[in-house]
Amino acid sequence: MTAITTTLNSQTDAPLNSVHSQSDGAVSRKSRTSKRNNDIVRVKLDARSYDIVVKRGLVKDVGGEIVRRLNLPGGEGRAAVVLINPKVEHYYGEEIYESLKNNGFQPIPIVIVAGEAYKTLQTVKRIYRALYEKEVDRRTLVIAVGGGVIGDMAGYVAATFQRGLDFVQVPTTLLAQVDSSVGGKVGVNFEKGKNLIGAFYQPKLVLIDPDTLKSLPFRERRSGLGEIIKYGAIYDADFYDEIDREVISLIRLTSDYLEKAIARSCEIKAKVVEKDERESGLRAILNFGHSVGHALEALTGYHVFRHGEAIAVGMVSASLIGEELGITDPSVTQALMETLLKSKFPIALDDRLYVSDIIALLAHDKKAVSGSVRFVLLDKLGHATSGHAVDTEVVRAALERQRRL
Ligand code: NAD
Ligand code: MG
Repeated sequence: MTAITTTLNSQTDAPLNSVHSQSDGAVSRKSRTSKRNNDIVRVKLDARSYDIVVKRGLVKDVGGEIVRRLNLPGGEGRAAVVLINPKVEHYYGEEIYESLKNNGFQPIPIVIVAGEAYKTLQTVKRIYRALYEKEVDRRTLVIAVGGGVIGDMAGYVAATFQRGLDFVQVPTTLLAQVDSSVGGKVGVNFEKGKNLIGAFYQPKLVLIDPDTLKSLPFRERRSGLGEIIKYGAIYDADFYDEIDREVISLIRLTSDYLEKAIARSCEIKAKVVEKDERESGLRAILNFGHSVGHALEALTGYHVFRHGEAIAVGMVSASLIGEELGITDPSVTQALMETLLKSKFPIALDDRLYVSDIIALLAHDKKAVSGSVRFVLLDKLGHATSGHAVDTEVVRAALERQRRL
């Protein structure tokens, strides 16, 4: 085993509060450069660079934020197509449309039934038709307001309609705020393939209002928290400790640390994406916990686990696999399990899932090589390496242990 293709050393990135920067006594924390300022994260991708703004109450001023941050001289009657689900429109639609109108945009709401089942080319075609009938021009702005399903699909429409329209993300689930709205992967499902049709297409701006999470059900909030825990585990041990301390109040949305946790998550994802936008190597570390996680989601038809729940189980699997290989210390698995248990995540493998079915699915994974499966593993808390080709018998041993947890 062990063909490490990429490693990420957060030392070189000097995150403001990383455990590595502490060891460098010559440089004070304040003098460190960071792209985060007042919870604005700059994603630096040359001409495709953009800001992620994290601010409570921001949803009331979406139009103003767009005008100011995109340097528009006022909307000038520019059409703003808003893709949104009925429930999200019920909560936030009016204030978003008002704010767009007040800033000179002409809002065109397109309401889409919620659910992964609608993230399809059929829905995309419906949206194309609506845009065609409204006779929108190339100055039209596409605004995604909602979770990852809306964001991915709106992004795909924006990438393809008239060869590309400007695109703004207003993510309203925690998962979308810390993950899917950042990094430019857009697309839809096709037949049995998740996200099989898609593109890399960066938004012009991401506007995150943590207050929108108040209307989000508990399991959806926890789902996003799974990805936040992942960022700490793969990239920043100090951040991990903060999350661990705050995990219960984060999930209850009572933590003052919520905005920081969202911004730091975006920042970590942004840093990885800046180095490897099209996932030729490093970006793979973001898939920590996702090999087994995806297998669990697929085996249960995508309606038993929320994504972050499957990833929680998958992170424990990856940590146990790392233990089998002597790469991950058992104390890391222990810490991970404690954090996950505090927020009531599942960590054991459910008895109803067969290890052989999981392994069969992993072997079908596009990243599999003959007789082994590729994994992202932790060599310590706060640091991951990708591209480990792991023998399926090692995977089996770890998963059998996880069943008995
Ligand atoms: P989702 O988009 O299905 O949203 C979950 C539910 O919450 C929906 O019913 C939605 O209408 C509702 N909702 C959204 N905001 C709400 C709010 N503020 N209050 C109340 N209800 C609200 O699910 P998700 O977890 O946000 O996203 C999952 C999708 O994201 C998947 O399709 C996945 O493939 C994609 N994804 C993409 C990337 C990427 O890099 N592009 C990364 C991770 C996940
Ligand atoms: Mg994920």
